Amino acid sequence: MEQRPEWLKVKAFDVAKMETIQKKLTAKGLHTVCEEALCPNLGECFNQGTATFMILGNICTRHCAFCGVKKEQKLLPPDPDEPLKVAEAVKKLNLKYVVITSVTRDDLSDGGAMHFVKTIEAVKQLNPQTAVEVLIPDFLGNREALEKVVKAKPKVINHNIETVPVLYDVIRPEANYKRSLNLLKQVKELDKTIYTKSGMMVGLGETQQAVKQVMNDLREVDCDIFTIGQYLAPTPQHYPVKEYVTPEGFTTYEQWGKEIGFKFVAAGSFVRSSYQAQNAFK
Ligand code: SF4
Repeated sequence: MEQRPEWLKVKAFDVAKMETIQKKLTAKGLHTVCEEALCPNLGECFNQGTATFMILGNICTRHCAFCGVKKEQKLLPPDPDEPLKVAEAVKKLNLKYVVITSVTRDDLSDGGAMHFVKTIEAVKQLNPQTAVEVLIPDFLGNREALEKVVKAKPKVINHNIETVPVLYDVIRPEANYKRSLNLLKQVKELDKTIYTKSGMMVGLGETQQAVKQVMNDLREVDCDIFTIGQYLAPTPQHYPVKEYVTPEGFTTYEQWGKEIGFKFVAAGSFVRSSYQAQNAFK
């Protein structure tokens, strides 16, 4: 793909401050999706003292073509000390809003749901003022697993739809569009007070109409918060960028999202599902 357009230049940030945060997290043996997925906002977020913790290890059982997370390596059992380590890091970083995500662990009977529950509870116990958002995998449609996470009462349950259904086979072959929509619907059936959130990337070859249809489908299942950002290939070996959507293109999606009733829409080239996630509640 040709040179990145002007609007996709990463903002300068204080490298020293970023490295301090990284050292703190690495010292605790904690992973962040920021580092594992090579997020372009890492510097900015770490400078603001925010990070998205990735639990259940850094090896995924799936093979999404856009994702920089490691695959095909030895899977380790969940670290029983991880929930407390995350809670202590939240305290140390004095986070008022924390996002907890994970790789997809289809090798675990509950997909790792109980580990999410233990982490949410540990964070809440040590940081009662901190709002918790969990960005969860689809647990292979296991409703019981989802129910456990819902009962732990995070403020937000986020599950990314990632792209348009026609691209699923090439972009996220082990996922299922209907299953992902159904998960968001089940959260509302189980507990209406929990905010649901979903996000996608554009620039993978989708049409604007197909994106709007995904946004409509998400509103059909009463999804509250929507994020949409530019896909950037983590490495040249990953799925190639097909288009750099213009800032005007993102404004169209933002307006559409508001028109169809999302409580909050974040649309922009650098928007990622947990990027400045606390802004939805400002
Ligand atoms: S399931 Fe998530 S972590 Fe795993 S490859 Fe796909 S996007 Fe990456």
